[in-house]
Amino acid sequence: MKADIIIKEEIKKQLNKRPLLLDGAMGTMLQTYGLKPGECPEEWNISHPQVITKIHQEYINAGADIILTNTFGASKIKLSNFGLVNDMVKINESAVKIAKEAINKERGSKKRIFIGGSVGPTGKILEPYGDLKISEVYKNYQEQVVILEKVGVDLIILETFYDLEEIRAALKATKENTNLMVIASLTFDQNLKTIYGVSPEKAVTVLESEGTDGIGANCGTGPEVLYEVLKMMKKVSQTYLLVEPNAGIPEFIEGKIIYPVSPKIMADYTEKFIQLGVNMIGGCCGTTPLHIKAMSDKIKNNLMVM
Ligand SMILES: [Zn+2]
Repeated sequence: MKADIIIKEEIKKQLNKRPLLLDGAMGTMLQTYGLKPGECPEEWNISHPQVITKIHQEYINAGADIILTNTFGASKIKLSNFGLVNDMVKINESAVKIAKEAINKERGSKKRIFIGGSVGPTGKILEPYGDLKISEVYKNYQEQVVILEKVGVDLIILETFYDLEEIRAALKATKENTNLMVIASLTFDQNLKTIYGVSPEKAVTVLESEGTDGIGANCGTGPEVLYEVLKMMKKVSQTYLLVEPNAGIPEFIEGKIIYPVSPKIMADYTEKFIQLGVNMIGGCCGTTPLHIKAMSDKIKNNLMVM
């Protein structure tokens, strides 16, 4: 759609002026609202839309400039784990409608809020190690991003990928079938590589040469590891940089999952990421509206002294 080219320019204009704040976790927030292990989080777009709306509103109120749709696992291959392939269109459509509704309800905030279509990995293994064909992966993402564009997301964020071949296919599917801005983000562990052994530099070089509008790292570990990853990316990157750390690595304490990184620590790292030149900063698993609020305050303070 032609309008998406205009939105792409608008987002780039804003990114050239200041860092944009993304929202925090969706999955772990849904768990606090009662999502059970083994349940499909994206199915809640149909069965619990009011919960998703509320989470988006909390993030908008906390200061997020970009909210991510609850569509991380809403591609056909991922939904097939839950027997929900036939609901793929409905789940993606309602996710975007919910995000728009949340923005409308928070009109008081006045600033422009962008909707990022979240797209995650299939969780399956590609040929030759597994039996998933690259053409199936391409088609899987093509179907999802075309719907997300049609219903009205402003950009696509490919996140939590670890297989370079898979994210390349997702990027290609988005570039060839939509006019949306697309950011590609991978997950790195303490060794500063993805579990498939992809280095930050390699990810940047390959994905930027294939036309991604931005590159980054999310999930897996906390801000300190991702800071090292982003430093490596910054050295070779020519595009926008994104980071969404987890609130640390979860610990199992007295039967509860606890994420150790506080809003204050995330805010301190936000400052470090800004100084490094990271353009889009948000949170992944374990982050909450409180983390995003602390990060928002830090960004505002930084803009005042800049
Ligand atoms: Zn995560």
